Amino acid sequence: AVFTEEEEAEEPVSDLETMRNEVLVFNTNCPECGAPASTNMKLVNIPHFKEVIIMATNCDGCGHRTNEVKSGGATEELGTRISLHVTDPSDMTRDLLKSETCSVIIPELEFELGMAALGGKFTTLEGLLKDIKDLIVVKNPFVCGDSSTDDRVQKLAQFGEKIDKIVAGELKIHLILDDPAGNSYLQNVYAPEEDPEMTVEKYTRTFEQNEELGLNDMKTEGYQEEN
Ligand SMILES: [Zn+2]
Repeated sequence: AVFTEEEEAEEPVSDLETMRNEVLVFNTNCPECGAPASTNMKLVNIPHFKEVIIMATNCDGCGHRTNEVKSGGATEELGTRISLHVTDPSDMTRDLLKSETCSVIIPELEFELGMAALGGKFTTLEGLLKDIKDLIVVKNPFVCGDSSTDDRVQKLAQFGEKIDKIVAGELKIHLILDDPAGNSYLQNVYAPEEDPEMTVEKYTRTFEQNEELGLNDMKTEGYQEEN
């Protein structure tokens, strides 16, 4: 079945109610090998945050698994910048929602993952770090090559080792989730108390950020309707 955002917007509320209680299954093709596969779709309520749609595809053919989060296209009024000082191995189990528009920054490693590089994910901090390592080190297209890339290969290997150390709790870093759409979340394990290791900043988007999110056009349309 073809699923588009337009169709989603037109779904009556009763279908949302249905989705809260069951998993919708539809047929797709595996993005990796092209074999017929099924995608499970579920509406999930994230405590202290909001509801998101999680789509999971498992391929019986090649074993490929994806888990994608859709925030329903809605953009919050303010952007969010979440900063966590990772100080303890238990931080790895924190739930984390990285929306499609969220950048991931680790200043200590001089690392920044731009928006859209990894898609939307609902995972844990450990899951995100493993996805980053997978994307940067394992799947990197520049890894196999001639001697001119040796230096790069070495740097990538070092990066992978540092990620492993963070996961093992041997390297303390700051993890920053910067989402101009405000749709990302990191679990506060002290809730409802404040988290001493985490800061959450709300900010007004710049014109460029609105442009990147395609919001400047939408605003024009909205104002026209009001007149
Ligand atoms: Zn497959």
